[in-house]
This record gives sequence, C-alpha cells and structure tokens, in this order.
Amino acid sequence: MNYNHHNKLKKYHTFSLNVIARAVYSIYSVNELIMLCKNARLNKCSVLLLGEGSNVIFVNNFDGLVILNRITSLNITESSIEWYIHVGSGNNWHKLVKKLIKNGIYGLENMAFIPGSVGAAPIQNIGAYGMEFKDVCNYVDIINLINGKQYRLNSHECEFGYRDSVFKHKYRENFAIVSVGLKLKKLWKPILTYSNLTSLIFTHTKITAKTIFNFICKIRKSKLPDPYLVGNAGSFFKNPVISSKYASKINLLYPLCPKYPQINGDVKLSAGWLIEQCNLKGYQYGGAAIHNNHALVLINKNNATGKDVINLARYIKKKVIEKFDIKLEPEVRFIGKYGEINAKDAIS
Ligand SMILES: Cc1cc2nc3c(=O)[nH]c(=O)nc-3n(C[C@H](O)[C@H](O)[C@H](O)COP(=O)(O)OP(=O)(O)OC[C@H]3O[C@@H](n4cnc5c(N)ncnc54)[C@H](O)[C@@H]3O)c2cc1C
Repeated sequence: MNYNHHNKLKKYHTFSLNVIARAVYSIYSVNELIMLCKNARLNKCSVLLLGEGSNVIFVNNFDGLVILNRITSLNITESSIEWYIHVGSGNNWHKLVKKLIKNGIYGLENMAFIPGSVGAAPIQNIGAYGMEFKDVCNYVDIINLINGKQYRLNSHECEFGYRDSVFKHKYRENFAIVSVGLKLKKLWKPILTYSNLTSLIFTHTKITAKTIFNFICKIRKSKLPDPYLVGNAGSFFKNPVISSKYASKINLLYPLCPKYPQINGDVKLSAGWLIEQCNLKGYQYGGAAIHNNHALVLINKNNATGKDVINLARYIKKKVIEKFDIKLEPEVRFIGKYGEINAKDAIS
C-alpha cells in the first residue's frame, strides 16, 4: 500500500480538474483494498475507487479517501480452441491489448487505445470500432467491500447493455471489480464492419490483428485529444437511442442525420452529430469548452472547475432538446463531495 504524499487529484483523472481529496492511496492487492475500506468505514470516511480516472468528473473536492487500483496480476491458460485470460482489475486496458497481440493472442485489437483500467471496462461495457467488452467477457470477479465476500459473475449475469451493466446498478455501491476473465478464440477473424475499417480490405492483401491495432491507434490519436495534453474524458454523452417512429420523423427533417438501427427496432443516433448541428463546436463556458473538431468531447481548456463542466453540459443538453427534442445523458460519471452523484439529474 502506498501513501501518495499529496492529496491533489489533478493527475489521477484525465479531465485534470484542480480538486483534492482527504487522502489518496494506491493498492496492489485485494487484501489491501479490504483493509483500507474497513478503516475508512470505522472513521466514517467516504471511499472512491479509481482506475485511471478517464471516465469521471469531480464536481467538488472529494471529502474522502481515493483508492487507486493497481492490482496488476495476469494469468493466461488455453484449450485447443480458446485462450483464457485472467486479469487483475488494475491493469491498463490498452497495455493488455498490446501485450496479448505481441504474444499472438488476438481478438481485442478493435478496442485498442481505449484509456482506463481493465476493472472499469465491464462497468460501462467499453466499446469501439464494432466491438464491445461483452463480446470477449468470460466472467467478472467482484468483492463485497463490507463483508469481504467474493463472487464470480458470468457474462450473462453482468447484464451488459450499451454503456451499461449490472455494475452501474445492483453492484455499484460497496462492490469492487477485482479481476476479469476474457475468452478469445484461437481461430481469429477480423471484425471490419465499422465504417472506416472496411477500407483496410482495399489497402491490404493480408489483414492481421496488428494491422487493425495500428490502424485504430493511428485514427484514435488523430481524432481524439490526448488527455495528457488537454484534459478530457472522451465522449461526454451517450449516443441517444430513440423509437423507430421518432427516428422516421427525424429522418424527414434531417435526412443527413446518421442512424444506427438496433436489434429491437429502436434507432441509435450520434450525439456528436446532434451537438454539431447546434453549432456548438468550440463553445466555452468558464474554463470548460467543446472541442473544436469533436463535438462530443468536452475539454478542460483553461483551469475549468467541475461547475463549469456541469454548466456547459447543461447548456448542450438544453440546445439539443430545443432543436431535436432529444435528451442527452452523460456517459461520464460525476463525483460529488462524498461520492458519485446522479449525472442525469446534475445537468437537468
Ligand atoms: C480520450 C478518451 C477516449 C475514450 N474512448 C472510449 C471509447 O472509445 N469507448 C469507451 O467505451 N470508453 C471510452 N472512454 C472512456 C473510458 O476510457 C472508459 O470508461 C474506461 O473504462 C474508464 O476506465 P478508468 O479506469 O479510467 O475508470 P475511472 O474513471 O477510474 O472510473 C470510472 C468509474 O468506475 C468506478 N470504478 C473504477 N474501477 C473500478 C473497480 N475496479 N471496481 C468498481 N468500480 C470501479 C469508479 O469509481 C468510477 O465511478 C474514453 C476516455 C477518454 C479519456
């Protein structure tokens, strides 16, 4: 267990807000995590477990203990047809993807370069370029932080949905994800369904997992602001899902609006496109702004406060409702003085 000598949170979350906590500790094992949580409870101190802070906004200073998850175990086994990867939740997701590919284990390449820890990946069922975490999930191991009991949930029990899972609901409070089990087929098939990945078919005679990995890293680097240079938390809002009836109406009014039909008949729209149509790119509120090239990404332009971010998000939501009568919901988690607060309510 490591005590970080200061309690500033700026470097522990990618939006880089100037906020502090009562204390910040790094843990390297499940036992350390349980012990710290027990002590915090005895001292009536709130606890926040963070991976790499790439999906949080601190609305205020955090009046509690921030625990940085650094449980980095990794164990790989195999059958004749599959690889089984058991990963400690504090591992970095992108480094895991890279390491597996280097070792000839393929299947995660479409989700390369997504920031954050392995443990946070199931929570919002991370996804990119035609794949989601659920597609490779074998199980998720969680621990009850009150009684120390450990449980293994299979993929079905995780109730994965679009940027959603049971870890945002039933197992949100007093539970921590301690490890994750992935299952990857030895007979690898590239997934090239996502729009610009199809171009690889025309430019490459042989497509490997490494080709896709490199391609995606390059696109992501060129499209998204580097959090080390410009504070941000990736896509700020979820893409809204609307009924097919309302989608037909939107189609008549805005034929160019990108639409992604869902299995149940609903239609997913691009939140970035909706925001862009409101002419909001570059719009600034206090120190927070909408990225000039990427309307879905809010940035820490100039010493933003959590309040600036909330006000900006509220303004965006209002403008999108006025133009499209569609309510955007934050994808990013909001952390208040004592713990997570409801992000939807915070910007209503
Ligand atoms: C530039 C950028 C690009 C991004 N692109 C994508 C993308 O393409 N697709 C995508 O899906 N996401 C994307 N994201 C969002 C982010 O990468 C994911 O949400 C990631 O999984 C967050 O991991 P983290 O470790 O940083 O989580 P944190 O921000 O540290 O934590 C997020 C929440 O999960 C909780 N938590 C963290 N770890 C645990 C644990 N072990 N057990 C229980 N609770 C825990 C925290 O308390 C917090 O409430 C992007 C973010 C950025 C900054």
